Amino acid sequence: MFYDQAFTLCYYSELLWQKSIVEGNGGNLSLKLDNNLFMTTPTLHSKNGLNEKDLVIVDSLGNQLYGDNRVTSELFAHLAIYKNNPDVGGVIHSHPPYTCSYAFSTSIPSVPLSAESVIWMEDLILAPYNMPGSQEFFDQIESLSRGRYVLALQNHGLIAWGKDLKEAFWRTEVVEAHCKISHIMESRGATPRHFTYKQMTQLSDLRNRFLKE
Ligand SMILES: [Zn+2]
Repeated sequence: MFYDQAFTLCYYSELLWQKSIVEGNGGNLSLKLDNNLFMTTPTLHSKNGLNEKDLVIVDSLGNQLYGDNRVTSELFAHLAIYKNNPDVGGVIHSHPPYTCSYAFSTSIPSVPLSAESVIWMEDLILAPYNMPGSQEFFDQIESLSRGRYVLALQNHGLIAWGKDLKEAFWRTEVVEAHCKISHIMESRGATPRHFTYKQMTQLSDLRNRFLKE
């Protein structure tokens, strides 16, 4: 049952761990099976070496329908995103080190400086801290997820989504690369060279074409 989707979920879980984007039992991933059915990684498991038997299937209210492991409480943040954005097919919550180095402070570099960051990073913002797993946290994710695809979470990490898990993973990678490059530039005292209005318009058009495909 849902073998391909389970393979995809385990594949991106492993990739996140291999790239040191998650650590310990941190992070969680989910994908949409249909409008009322979601597959997700279990709580208190490393993202390294998961297999289909480890995964959990829930309905849109978070009721567990399949799986011996317990579902993560942070799944409700994923469900808030799916509820708000019907086109979304995959969500990844992670703790990428360079992104976290900004998210653990008071600001995050939000101005895109490459074509990839215009296309995949959107308007990155830092959501003020709320206790993970609290209703305030889920309400915040629900309201801030409208019209965007990534959110940095203060003193917590990153959450990214897309039409499938591949898009959510690309966004996670691009935000982390952007934060890493920003950190290197700051440490060199380099002056960022911003896109002109015309260049931004061209790249935004490109992004809109990509997202429609
Ligand atoms: Zn978390």
